[in-house]
This record gives sequence, structure tokens and C-alpha cells, in this order.
Amino acid sequence: MRIGKDGLAEGARFVPSPNCDERPAGCAVDLLVIHHISLPPGEFGGGGIVELFTNRLDPAAHPYYATIAGAKVSAHFLIRRDGELIQFVSCGRRAWHAGESSWKGRARCNDFSVGVELEGTGEVPYTDAQYARLAALARALAARYPITDIAGHSDIAPGRKSDPGASFDWPRFRSLLDVRRRRPKKNYGGKRRSVKLPRRPARRQKK
Ligand SMILES: [Zn+2]
Repeated sequence: MRIGKDGLAEGARFVPSPNCDERPAGCAVDLLVIHHISLPPGEFGGGGIVELFTNRLDPAAHPYYATIAGAKVSAHFLIRRDGELIQFVSCGRRAWHAGESSWKGRARCNDFSVGVELEGTGEVPYTDAQYARLAALARALAARYPITDIAGHSDIAPGRKSDPGASFDWPRFRSLLDVRRRRPKKNYGGKRRSVKLPRRPARRQKK
């Protein structure tokens, strides 16, 4: 996988979302944020996520939709259960996925991050296809942008957000990246970078 100069991932289905704007001038993209979403909650494979991110969600279609319809939100990417990659916002633009957030003392994580949604609940295990696609995407992003950290939404908005949840296997994801990192240099376009994952479960909040 490659991220083009236009910020679009080759091989992704591009469904443009209006819920985005310009990143602040001179702001480097150095953080990857992992989320989960399912619409209706707990159901997979329907059109709700794409409808939400493109402001086409019918509030009458499901009781839960009435509570979120009208929310102007997006993410750069969605990885469906079968591994399909859908892109809503160019990585060069600011998607609206993080909300009130902070990472290493920097607020407004939307400014400097790429947001990836995994179709899931945080309780049901994510699929092999999702881990594989996410690892490929992380590698492609690190080749295009100076990505130094990967965090969960729960890491940048602790107490407020819990995604990607307990079912996201950080060690597994880390090992997928590590395997890639040992491969020949040409896979990185000469831009090999060390990507740091947040230590788990240090930032998990217990009530
Ligand atoms: Zn999230």
C-alpha cells in the first residue's frame, strides 16, 4: 500500500466526507489514532458508518441513529471486518475524529493525527483481515508522514473514550509492525521510522 502525494491511499475506496478542513499551517502529521465504531452498535456490515461520515444518516432508521444524526464527524479511514479499506478524508486534511483530546501535552489531536476506525465494538475480537490491513496502512502512513506514535482514542481522551477497547490486541499489532520493520529497506522507500506504541495498560482508566 502507498499513500499518494494527494494524501489518498492506493487501493482504498474513497468516499469523500464534508466533515474536514485544513490542518494548521506547518503542522506535521505524526500521530496515528485507532478507533472503533459499529452502527447500529454491535452490528457489522451495514451502511450506517458511511452514512454517518457523509451526513446521510437517517435518524429514523434506528433508535440510536436519532442520538447521533447531525453529528459532524469523520475519520480518515475505516477498516471493515473483511479488511476493506474506505477513505473519507485525504490525510493532508484534518478529519474530525478525536474531539477534545491531548497527546504528550499537545491538545487538539485532530490537528496532527490520522484517524483510523476499525469496524468493531471493543469487546468482539477484531479480525485477522483488520490487523493485516491496519499494519499495512500504518506502514504506508509512516512512509509518507513523520509518524512517531500510535495511540488509541482512549489514550488521547482518557475517561471520555474507550475505543479501540479491550479486544484490540496491542501486542499482536506491535508484532505485525515489528515483522515489517525487519524486512528489507526498499519496503520503506528509504524512510524507515521507529513507530512507538503506547504502553498498555498504563493509560487505561479504572473507575
Ligand atoms: Zn474514537
